[in-house]
Amino acid sequence: MARSICKRCLLAELDDLSTYESVQKYIGTIPANDRTNSQEYASRLDRCRACEHLLDGVCHQCGCYVEMRAASRSQRCPKKMW
Ligand code: SF4
Repeated sequence: MARSICKRCLLAELDDLSTYESVQKYIGTIPANDRTNSQEYASRLDRCRACEHLLDGVCHQCGCYVEMRAASRSQRCPKKMW
C-alpha cells in the first residue's frame, strides 16, 4: 500500500532514513562559513513546517529538501519567509 504524502513534515519526521542520511551527509559538506547556526536553522525549519508548500520534506516552490536549503546561509526561501 502506498504511503500518503505528509504535508508540513520534515525529512527527519518521515520514514525515509536513506534520504535523511544523504541530506545530513550533504549538510556536513557545507563550509562552516556558509552554514547557518543552530538557532537560525531551527527558525527556518519552523517557518517551513508552517508553510503550505512543504510536502514530504520538499519545498514545492523550489524543489529542494528544506533541511538542506535551510542549512546554508547563502540560500533563501523562494517565498521570502526566511
Ligand atoms: S522554503 Fe519557503 S516556500 Fe519553501 S517550504 Fe520553506 S517556507 Fe515554504
